[in-house]
Amino acid sequence: TIRTRFAPSPTGLLHIGNARAALFNFLFARHHGGEFLLRIEDTDRERSTQQAVDVIFDGLAWMGITADEEPVFQSTRQARHAEVALELLAKGLAYKCYCTPEELKQMREDAMKNGQPPRYNGMWRDRDPSEAPEGAPYAIRIKAPREGETVLNDLVQGEVRVANAEMDDMIILRSDGTPTYQHAVVVDDHDMAITHVIRGDDHLTNTFRQAMIYRAMGWDLPRFGHLPLIHGPDGAKLSKRHGAQSVVEFREQGYLPEALCNYLLRLGWGHGDAEILSREEQIKLFDIDGVGRSPSRMDYAKLLHINAVWLRQADDTRLTDDVMNRLKALEGVQTDDTVRARVLALMPGLKERARTLVELTESAAFLGRHVPLTFNDKAKKILTPEARTILDGLARELAAVEDFTPEAIDAALRRFAEREGHKLGQVAQPVRAAVTGSNTSPGIDATLFALGKDETLARIGAALH
Ligand code: GLU
Repeated sequence: TIRTRFAPSPTGLLHIGNARAALFNFLFARHHGGEFLLRIEDTDRERSTQQAVDVIFDGLAWMGITADEEPVFQSTRQARHAEVALELLAKGLAYKCYCTPEELKQMREDAMKNGQPPRYNGMWRDRDPSEAPEGAPYAIRIKAPREGETVLNDLVQGEVRVANAEMDDMIILRSDGTPTYQHAVVVDDHDMAITHVIRGDDHLTNTFRQAMIYRAMGWDLPRFGHLPLIHGPDGAKLSKRHGAQSVVEFREQGYLPEALCNYLLRLGWGHGDAEILSREEQIKLFDIDGVGRSPSRMDYAKLLHINAVWLRQADDTRLTDDVMNRLKALEGVQTDDTVRARVLALMPGLKERARTLVELTESAAFLGRHVPLTFNDKAKKILTPEARTILDGLARELAAVEDFTPEAIDAALRRFAEREGHKLGQVAQPVRAAVTGSNTSPGIDATLFALGKDETLARIGAALH
């Protein structure tokens, strides 16, 4: 069985680059009928707060990415990491290094002086441990192969190779008994029976180092797929100045998880012209060979477009729930059941014109405001003395409507306009301004219906004062 994993470090945010890696691992596993696992790499105890872990859990749940087994917390596996390091030591494939911090510093400086990258010179590789001072602390280093090269057949990058001489004897277990990142990842991926490691290509050099540990232990290497990173629209590394970067930010800015996932999938993975793909279609179509090698550029306008499409398809009750939550943060907006019913009633019209949940909330806010409304400039311009006269007459026409349905409202407006010799717009615009405080809203019949007869008349009355 194919088993993939997402292995985030809890840093306090879920970057969209990581979120995309999670999505790809999830879809790849599902596509092949395999399993997708989650491992929290919480070895940095300072940063790994419960809150930081929750950010990951919440983000993944929001995106509909679910693991098939209980999450593994890396910090709970330290004894096992140490066990493997000791096994390598016992087999002579790793050794104790008694270097002091000063010696290591000197080594780095010497290497730099010779124009070489800072690296460990193998000082204790062949030295007799009995030469070390009694009780001196030591780290365990792996014996890196000194000849030949390591070749990887990467699922995305193709064949990549590195000369073994370029890799030094890295530490796998620190003098305090804690594993290094490289070591913990390998032991965990092996023990979790991971068959495919799909992650950002910033991990490519790590992969070569990690390969040493697999080989020394005689373990099969998983297949690796290194994804090109997401860059900003200008091709530079994605950063704050480009816009939102974390899942929480996109969520706050009113993106739907389906839209964000859909966009992240399409970013660097293609399947013909298909742009909008349901989760089922994604699972059916996704495979790693469709992932491109070049860096993807974040296109915020495209994401906005995709979000608008998903918004129009989204369920009205769900959108209403979200909008009601967002309305609570606005001042002077009621969020009781009456208002909720209005928002729900008008949702089909509202969602046609919004691109994000934030825009949707802004356009729904008038439904929860109290009379007298504040009018924007355009509404003020519409409410001329002539328009007020029209409104006054229309109010009487509407008051006479018994069954206040959209059809009856529409008929009343038309009847009134025809009788008084006005164009429909001359009637609709003043009433829209009066009841919404602005010049835009969904169809006037739907808008008045959502407000209900009493509220409609109260708002018109207040506007006339
Ligand atoms: N914890 C690593 C990170 O967040 C990922 C390790 C991996 O995917 O192998 O960058």
